[in-house]
Amino acid sequence: MKNLSVPLENYNDQNIFARILRGEIPCKKIYEDSYALSFYDVFPKAAAHALVIPKKPYICFNDFINQASDEEISGFFKAVGKTIALLGVSERGFRMVSNSGEHGGQEVTHFHVHILGGEKLS
Ligand code: 5GP
Repeated sequence: MKNLSVPLENYNDQNIFARILRGEIPCKKIYEDSYALSFYDVFPKAAAHALVIPKKPYICFNDFINQASDEEISGFFKAVGKTIALLGVSERGFRMVSNSGEHGGQEVTHFHVHILGGEKLS
């Protein structure tokens, strides 16, 4: 099977989420552990809009799922679950989205998951 991952050496460590991870740019933190950081999106597209990013430098979903260890993958998605709970959207529902690559409309080239909720989404 063709390996769809992008080589890690192509990771741009000046992307905005890398800068947030290094503390160079502030964020409104929701949750953090050794695998992931989550924070509010600065341009929210819903009443509640969080972003969850892995601590390590993965470019997109393919990169993450192909290069990360099982422990990192599990740790990341547990952090997504904790973020959903802290955001207060567990009960009434939410949308989980990950834009990937050019056709997916990914703007920031550090893998991330959007959690959108807090209202009925169209
Ligand atoms: P993408 O289009 O790559 O899936 O989503 C990137 C998201 O990052 C967008 O929803 C955008 O509003 C958000 N974003 C861009 N710059 C910043 C920033 O400096 N801080 C925060 N918290 N979010 C950002």
